[in-house]
Amino acid sequence: MPTEVTWLGHGSWLVATGKHKILIDPFLNDSPTAPFKADVAEADYLLISHGHFDHVADAGQIAKRTGAAVAANFEICEWLSSKHGVEKTEPMNLGGAIQTPFGRVKMTPALHSSTLPDGASGGDPGGFLLTLSDGRIYFACDTALFSDMKLHAGGVDLAVLPIGDRFTMGPDDALEAVRLIQPKRVVPSHYSTWPPIQQDAEAWAKRVRQETGVEAIVLQPGGTLKL
Ligand SMILES: [Zn+2]
Repeated sequence: MPTEVTWLGHGSWLVATGKHKILIDPFLNDSPTAPFKADVAEADYLLISHGHFDHVADAGQIAKRTGAAVAANFEICEWLSSKHGVEKTEPMNLGGAIQTPFGRVKMTPALHSSTLPDGASGGDPGGFLLTLSDGRIYFACDTALFSDMKLHAGGVDLAVLPIGDRFTMGPDDALEAVRLIQPKRVVPSHYSTWPPIQQDAEAWAKRVRQETGVEAIVLQPGGTLKL
């Protein structure tokens, strides 16, 4: 089975390789657009990009119920194990990679903030570069545009970029990120969850196709593409 990538609304994604299920920043119970709630989420691994509520809120309960390992920066792993009783963690930090049963996971830089919901330090925010047997996926996660994206993720098979604006890149900067990264395909993320980050994703995808020639795919929450 080819790897499937499903948008769970907001900045939440499910990567299913056929053997493994990887959840990125699952935010399900309080997200108005999530296709299901945290109590039915399945996962072998959780990847958490930074400490904000809309990225960590459901991580503890999903990890405990499923027994999934959580890969995140050192501070978030510490917080999830000491405050939420998560047993399996894979602490890492920017620029580092770990080998997992589904492939290599590298934590890439992100320009954002990362304080945890209780005010604890969430370390530095990051993104993830996944090297799977079916290809490479770059989850920029919550970030501003920065030119080193080209170094970290140039030529990936799929780039997942925020377009919501206000808290992350907006459509114009995400278009510039596509120019820098030159992915085979790109899919937008972190938009239209709430009115302050409402965006016309179809209009953005049309601009991407016309101005960069890169294949842009717009998913609905719950929608899936094959890698
Ligand atoms: Zn966010």
